[in-house]
Amino acid sequence: MIIENLQNIQNELPENVTLVAVSKTKPITDIKEAYSAGQRIFGENKIQEMVTKYEELPKDIEWHMIGHLQRNKVKYMAHFVSLIHGVDSLKTLKEIDKQAKKHNRVIQCLLQVRIAQEETKFGFPISEIKDILSSEEMIQLKNITISGLMGMATFTDNKEQLKNEFTSLKKLFEELKKEYSQLSILSMGMSGDYQLAIENGSTMVRIGSAVFGNRTYT
Ligand SMILES: *Cc1c(COP(=O)(O)O)cnc(C)c1O
Repeated sequence: MIIENLQNIQNELPENVTLVAVSKTKPITDIKEAYSAGQRIFGENKIQEMVTKYEELPKDIEWHMIGHLQRNKVKYMAHFVSLIHGVDSLKTLKEIDKQAKKHNRVIQCLLQVRIAQEETKFGFPISEIKDILSSEEMIQLKNITISGLMGMATFTDNKEQLKNEFTSLKKLFEELKKEYSQLSILSMGMSGDYQLAIENGSTMVRIGSAVFGNRTYT
């Protein structure tokens, strides 16, 4: 099923949209199956789980950290992580920078923006993103690059609301791109809402259950 799911999704995606296969909680065998179908980008939301999988699997896989970060664990992934989606504080950025430096790397990060109306979602408010990007502290961080923005919409079937949330992020992204040429990634869209996210400007979708099947726990 995994291979078929992947192929169906790949066929649907426009060329400029990258698929992150979200393999959190799923076993190595599932990832190998997706790998055999050509998938090379996988997303995890727990650092320890990602490290274990990284160690066991082929090294041409790009690992994306999509979950909320525990700062004290950043050091365990700093030597291999390709993209960190969910950065939502300057403190965390500083820690990523510090750990990246130890490995002589520049780690790509996305700033997580709070677009959902739900209280529980992490992220910077839209109004703070510009200040963060232009802050003196940010300019000091030489071992990270902010490559784009990430957002999670409200968990709802209300298409109008989803559309509004996605377009608010897209608008911010386009505005910032004029000033910050390194911004190229707009990460939004999951199994339940990726079509809508793509229609509204996503360049990277994070899809778990529609590839690997439902998770029994998160
Ligand atoms: C789990 C997760 C996803 C994937 O969710 P699905 O609904 O299974 O596609 C995407 N983004 C983040 C941040 C996640 O934690």
